[in-house]
Amino acid sequence: MNGEFPIDAFAAMSQGAALRPYRYARDDLGPYDVAIAITHCGICHSDVHLLDNDWNVTSYPFVPGHEIVGAIIATGSEVARSRIGERVGVGWLAGSCMECPQCLSGNENLCRQSRATCVGRHGGYATEVCADGRFAVPIPDAVPSEYAAPLLCAGITVFAPLHRAGLKSHGRVGVVGLGGLGHLAVQYAKAMGSAVTVFSTTAAKAEEAHRIGADRFVTLDRRDSTVAEAGTCDLILATVPVDLPWAEYLRALKPNGALCIVGAAPGEIKIPAVDLIDGQKSIYGSAVGSNHAIREMFQFSVQHGITPTIELYPMKEVNRALGRLRENRMRFRAVLVNEV
Ligand code: NAP
Ligand code: ZN
Repeated sequence: MNGEFPIDAFAAMSQGAALRPYRYARDDLGPYDVAIAITHCGICHSDVHLLDNDWNVTSYPFVPGHEIVGAIIATGSEVARSRIGERVGVGWLAGSCMECPQCLSGNENLCRQSRATCVGRHGGYATEVCADGRFAVPIPDAVPSEYAAPLLCAGITVFAPLHRAGLKSHGRVGVVGLGGLGHLAVQYAKAMGSAVTVFSTTAAKAEEAHRIGADRFVTLDRRDSTVAEAGTCDLILATVPVDLPWAEYLRALKPNGALCIVGAAPGEIKIPAVDLIDGQKSIYGSAVGSNHAIREMFQFSVQHGITPTIELYPMKEVNRALGRLRENRMRFRAVLVNEV
């Protein structure tokens, strides 16, 4: 521990608890690490899952936050000095082994030893964070910090599977849930040339959905509305943090269509085998994105003018922001700001 550098953060002391001020000292930096003075941090629903220990991986005190933007203020011995002062972003991953086949092929997000920014270590609802410098991605000048933050997790998580799917034009993408991830998925899918159907439980979001590019808006009444869309989508991206009637979404796919799950609801996904066989449907998951994909995502966002819709909160109002997110009232991503 290095007592010279106290870090002010907000932490939960137990499962589901309100966050409260929490001070700790900066760890010694490893050779490849950088310390980052945080200016902005987005609030992802994964922070809420972790806060509630939905995935049984949380340790307390828990400092959430993995959509981090700030400036490098200290570097380990193997990091080039010239990076001091550089504006960078850190998303879900703060490091990986950099030696396994996945890391060597540029898929650090699939490394078995990857280190999540706020799992077992303190995250970005703080004045400072530490990460492997190779995971501190430079942010293009054209992207203001408050917009860069949500792109570092929400943005990359939906950009990566859409980019991999390579639908280009004439495809139709379904986006389930118009939240932090969903509202960016609509914009990326549209910019990649697809028609977009939004499946939402909130009728009041229809106007906003159309404004950001959705062609169709289906209000979910859990049963009937999705069936009415039978056979229309090539790819459906499920971004909700809860269980869904998955078979209905499989029915909304065209033959050979795929359901990509990015929403990390706790519990099991149950699907009748016949619903996969009939029409050769597939279902798969996708985990954030590689460092290279994050750079591509920033470039694509600049090229196509894609920006998140955000609500800004001073860091000390984190509990108010979390409350709005839990109530599904956020439009569409909260970004915490450290006042200087
Ligand atoms: P969010 O901002 O809360 O958005 C989720 C949306 O899901 C809501 O806006 C809502 O949209 C819909 N929804 C339907 N039923 C809901 C319910 N009972 N409670 C809350 N929302 C409900 O969340 P997010 O930050 O986009 O994250 C979404 C999920 O993705 C989370 O599970 C998160 O952990 C996961 N995630 C995964 C990855 C990955 O690598 N795979 C990365 C980041 C996040 P409507 O009002 O339109 O229905
Ligand atoms: Zn996230």
